[in-house]
Amino acid sequence: MSKLVIVGTVAFDAIETPFGKTDKILGGAATYIGLSAANFDNVDAAAVSVVGGDFPQEYLDLLTDRKVNIDGVEIVKDGKTFFWSGKYHNDMNSRDTLATELNVLETFTPVVPENYQNADIVMLGNLHPLTQQSVLDQMSKKPKLAILDTMNFWMDIAMEDLKAVLKNVDVITINDEEARQLSGEYSLVNAAKKIHTMGPKYVVIKKGEHGALLFNEDNMFYAPALPLAEVFDPTGAGDTFAGGFSGYLAKTGNVSFENMKKAVIYGSALASFCVEKFGTERMLSLTDEEIYERLQQFKDLTQFEIELN
Ligand code: AMP
Repeated sequence: MSKLVIVGTVAFDAIETPFGKTDKILGGAATYIGLSAANFDNVDAAAVSVVGGDFPQEYLDLLTDRKVNIDGVEIVKDGKTFFWSGKYHNDMNSRDTLATELNVLETFTPVVPENYQNADIVMLGNLHPLTQQSVLDQMSKKPKLAILDTMNFWMDIAMEDLKAVLKNVDVITINDEEARQLSGEYSLVNAAKKIHTMGPKYVVIKKGEHGALLFNEDNMFYAPALPLAEVFDPTGAGDTFAGGFSGYLAKTGNVSFENMKKAVIYGSALASFCVEKFGTERMLSLTDEEIYERLQQFKDLTQFEIELN
């Protein structure tokens, strides 16, 4: 069994899309990453996060039911869970954040359970960069791969801390706008080059419905997103991608560029399910057969024979 440590928010989300509106539902980066990584055999995943006393036990059970260890999820009895609210317009590639209430996150000090401190892969999901660094500091040996995901919110309030933790990770996964913000470069090729110099040898840039790019020095790989007739709610797609990417690498134990290409495809395939329903709903009903079929669709979508004379 390969160990995967996941850090990120476990949250309440309120979402509005052209298709409808939800009250506070289950969300959070670590939730989506965990639910996605849980689809891989031979991966012993553990979430490190914090929730308040208002967080329902049945939500935590959804993770443990899928064998995601939650010993590292602290429950602050008299605290309130992190809350995020967002609104999408007709173009589902961009969203407005309506509210970010840090609540228990404000004083959170992560604790990686002892038997996960030697994890092979560390997936640093969206959280304060100092919290991400603290998780890395607790590892008893250098992980085979440290992957970091972040977003504009943390760039706006903690850019210097983010730059410091970037020096210590192998892979960064971010969306196109965030790559531009982080690097100050508009071209994504130049943005990736600049981000390489900040630390990560591998840069994954997620482009929503336009797929994802993987950069490593002079190597580049592109995976499309599966064209879907209906995207209901893109919330969590980036984290689900990160869960598929890190879960596949943990399962295979191979962190070469060639294998990362496959990890990008797994990430994209899993993310394509996430957006089909509101919140975590689709990920909770997902079967192995459906994943297999979708991977086949990805293959069919991108494979072609061409004779070059
Ligand atoms: P994604 O759509 O994959 O980028 O991530 C959506 C999830 O990120 C939601 O479930 C939110 O709870 C969570 N989230 C939103 N803002 C933040 C933030 N500033 N830090 C950590 N997690 C966040």
